[in-house]
Order: sequence, then C-alpha cells, then structure tokens
Amino acid sequence: MSPGSSQTEMTAYSPLLQSIPGVLHGFGDKAHLMPAVLQPWQSTLPVKKQVHGVHIHEVGAPGEECGMADGLITSTPGVLLSVLTADCLPLVFSRRDGRRIAVLHAGWRGLLAGIIERFADLLADGDDPALWVAAIGPAAGPCCYEVSEILVEDFLAQLAIPAAIISPSFRHLDLPAIARYKLAALGFTAVDSTNRCTICTRAQGQSGFCYTSFRRNSQQRAVDPSYPTISGRNQHSGAIILP
Ligand SMILES: [Zn+2]
Repeated sequence: MSPGSSQTEMTAYSPLLQSIPGVLHGFGDKAHLMPAVLQPWQSTLPVKKQVHGVHIHEVGAPGEECGMADGLITSTPGVLLSVLTADCLPLVFSRRDGRRIAVLHAGWRGLLAGIIERFADLLADGDDPALWVAAIGPAAGPCCYEVSEILVEDFLAQLAIPAAIISPSFRHLDLPAIARYKLAALGFTAVDSTNRCTICTRAQGQSGFCYTSFRRNSQQRAVDPSYPTISGRNQHSGAIILP
C-alpha cells in the first residue's frame, strides 16, 4: 500500500510510520476491523486482555500469552502487535531504524494513569524516544468527546498540561492533544496523527460511519434497546516488523 493509492485515501495511515523501512502499520475501521495490510499476519497476534491499565508487555514470539496488558513492544520480526479500540486512543510506535515497534491502548484512564510515561520509562533503559516515531490513531475527538465536569477537573488537577489543551470546550476532553503534549514532553520529537474522530467521521462517498465507536453505539442503544452490542467490534491499530 503506497501513500498515493486509493486504499490509503480511504483508510487512515501515518506518513511517519509509512517511511520506516521493513515495518507495516495500519488503523482498522468499521468495515475492516483489522486493517487490510495487516490481515495476512493476524494469526501471529499475541493474546492479551486490555484493562485500561499501564502494563506494557515485551513480546518475544507469535501468539504469545501476555496476560493483562495495554501495551506491547517487540524487537521480533513477524509478530503483529495491535491494540483494540472503539473511542480510546491507539498509539503506534516504531524505531526509525525499524528494529523495534510498540503499541499502546490509551483511553482517558490510561492517559491519567500514565501509560505513555510508562512507555518512556521502558525506553530509558538503553533506548531513546528521539530515535522513535509515534502515530496517534483514530479516537474520540475534541469535537465529540463530552464527559463529566468531574472528569475534566480530574485531568486538570492531575496533569501538568494547559487547561486549553486538556479541555478546549466545556466538558470536552481532547485525548489526542493530551497524548501529543505528553509525547513531546517525554522527548518523542516525531509524532503524527490521523486526525480522525471515531464518533463523527463519516466514510467518504458512502452513508454510514467509518469507525466503530463505543460512545455512538451507546447513544444508539439508549434510544433503541434492541440495538446490537458492540462486543468484539473494536478496531485494531497495529504494526509488524516484516520477517
Ligand atoms: Zn467528532
């Protein structure tokens, strides 16, 4: 898949990750929960349970049992790493030399609990964030992500980030901007973002939505209790070092 192809125009991708030799990446959507470019590697996925925590598991082999983990990192070629999200924020990382990759599941809980800081701590042991690139995937955007005033206050109280970045409008959180601010503060100098909101992005030239959204589906369920659940309907954001 090249940046100029029609497929990449329809699906979000990261120009930074696209430039890494020997690394494939992708962001799933509602039609392709696993991005098409990563589908051939689906059987290599490690097995993990995401719990909105901060544990990052070092993966050594395809299909590895990781237990509870909201981040994965590997230097092993041929192992697809992904996180599953519906409105939470997926982060996909690669070293610029393509020798190591990582993914993080960073919703509001993970951002408050410090999963990005945990990842930077992990790299402090012999690596350097400046040698990595990071991509912010599709997530609930500041346009739509309305939360309680108490939650906004928790963010303002717990994070040393300007209020206008955390909450650009009343009762709204800007998860991508919070992640971007944290990444910059931790020394990640190369960061891009798909700038896609999972709640309001519509597929180009089609009716319906581009992304699975927990928030949007919850609202639909509230109106119509028979609306199907979204269990298992989260989209993958991931990367692989090609073997
Ligand atoms: Zn939106």
